[in-house]
This record gives sequence, structure tokens and C-alpha cells, in this order.
Amino acid sequence: MPTEISEKILSEVIKTRKSATHKGNYGRILLIGGSDNYGGAIIMATEGAINVGAGLTAVATHSVNLTALHARDPEAMFIDWHDKGLPALIKKMDVIVCGPGLGMSTMAQQLLKILKENVTAKQTVVLDASALDLVAQDKNFLPSNAGHLVLTPHQMEWQRVSQLRIPFQTDQANLTALKQLVPQGNVTLILKSNHTHVYGEDGSVFINPIGNPGMATGGMGDTLAGIVGGMIAQFGPDLKTILAAVYLHSYAGDQLYEDNYVVKPTALSQSLPKIMKKYA
Ligand code: AMP
Ligand code: MG
Repeated sequence: MPTEISEKILSEVIKTRKSATHKGNYGRILLIGGSDNYGGAIIMATEGAINVGAGLTAVATHSVNLTALHARDPEAMFIDWHDKGLPALIKKMDVIVCGPGLGMSTMAQQLLKILKENVTAKQTVVLDASALDLVAQDKNFLPSNAGHLVLTPHQMEWQRVSQLRIPFQTDQANLTALKQLVPQGNVTLILKSNHTHVYGEDGSVFINPIGNPGMATGGMGDTLAGIVGGMIAQFGPDLKTILAAVYLHSYAGDQLYEDNYVVKPTALSQSLPKIMKKYA
């Protein structure tokens, strides 16, 4: 039976900030995504990372998204994903989130290749959305040199990448498929649904008991990817950090659902700093 994630994970993971610190103490995160058609996804992922308090947030995206990103999220820095400086930027990061709005183009494939070539064992890579669909097409896209991988598929993405054709597989089938996908085992799987399951590298299984149907809206998963990345940037890639990120996302969603019919991902992100302060 999976273990339920509970509220106490938030106070265990979220730390009071010490006064003698600076942004360098809170981690560096790079988000790669946002093709010319899917700019919103990378904006929502970026807002997740910024609002959980990542020390430095950088974004590599299609040039058409740069103006909108600058205007919405001046806290982050941005580069055109064609920029020759991308490999050097990847190397400087603690965490790289790849996938929100990435698409399946040749350029998207090229970006996964650049990520794989430049990532090191000191870094964590969070793969979401189309990055997972590209891995489903070709396992060589998996940036296996990363110290830790976090995969955040929804049920359909998991079916494609795991080649388990039926949704809502048993935990054992999911763990077996995960081991086949990442034999070296340095991976956490966040398998999203109305009750998301989290599979740790030690074979442990957790279930998120909270969240609501107001969260069933476009951009909610992109926001989670940013939250997961931003939390890991600050608190490290332990399973506890990942569990806290999953719980925090749904907890914030539940607070908004009390008096809103639908939970807007951008509103969820904006509510995070205040919620985190309660647990720090
Ligand atoms: P995605 O499908 O990638 O946009 O991800 C959707 C996100 O919203 C995941 O984190 C889901 O767990 C969450 N979500 C969607 N629908 C529900 C629901 N009915 N109840 C709880 N959480 C949900
Ligand atoms: Mg998604």
C-alpha cells in the first residue's frame, strides 16, 4: 500500500531563511521549453519556480516568448533557445526542468541532445510533457548523465513512455517499467492523476491524498514542474523535497478551490510564497 503524503512534510522540508544568506544559497534553475505555439506552458512553469523561491531562475525558450516572459516574470532571466551560450548556462545550474511547451520539433530534439551532452552528475533534471514524449520515441533522449532524474508524466504520457498500454497500472508494474526506463535507478517518478503517486528510487510508493477537480485545467502540470524544480534547487533532490513539492501544489490548489470554481495555475503560483511562510 502506498504511504499517504501528509501536511507535516511541508514543515520538514521548507526551511526558515537565515539572515546571512544571498540568492546563491537558494539554488539555480534553468527551464527549457515554450515553442512558438506553447509560450504559456513555459510561463506557468517559470512562475512555479520563482514563487517557491528558487535563488536564480533562467529560461531558454523560443524567441517569440521572450517579450511576454520578460513582461510577466521580470524575476527570471531569459535566453533564446538557439543561443550558443546554452551549453554553458546548463553547466551552471543545479536543476534543469525540460519539457513544458517544448513540442516535438527538430529543435526540441536538438535541445534534449544539448541537455544530455552538458548535464553532469551534480545536477538534477526534471522532465515533463513533450520531453517525455520524445523519450517515448527514443530512449537516447533521456539525459542519463544527470545525478538525479525526476519524471512528471500524466497518465497518457506515462502510457507512452512506459509502454504500459492501460491507464492506472499497479504500483508494481509502474516500478518495473521505471526500472526498465532508467536501469541505473537514480529516478523519481511523479505519476500525475487526481491522486498522484510518487515512486522513489528505493521502490517506495507514496500517494497524494489532496487536490481537487478545480485543478483539472491546462497549465497545472507545467506549474507543478516549476514547483518541483524550484524546491529541488533550494532543498536538494531528496525524495522528501519532491513529496513536499507535490503536496504543496495540491495544498495551494485546495486553498483556492474553497472559493473559486476553477484554480488558475498562475493564481496558484502567486499564492505559494504566503503558504510557504506558514511552514518555514
Ligand atoms: P497536467 O495534466 O500535466 O496538466 O497535470 C495536471 C496537474 O493537475 C497534476 O498535478 C494533477 O495531479 C492535477 N490535477 C488534475 N486534475 C485533478 C483532479 N481532478 N484532482 C486533483 N488534482 C488534479
Ligand atoms: Mg502536462
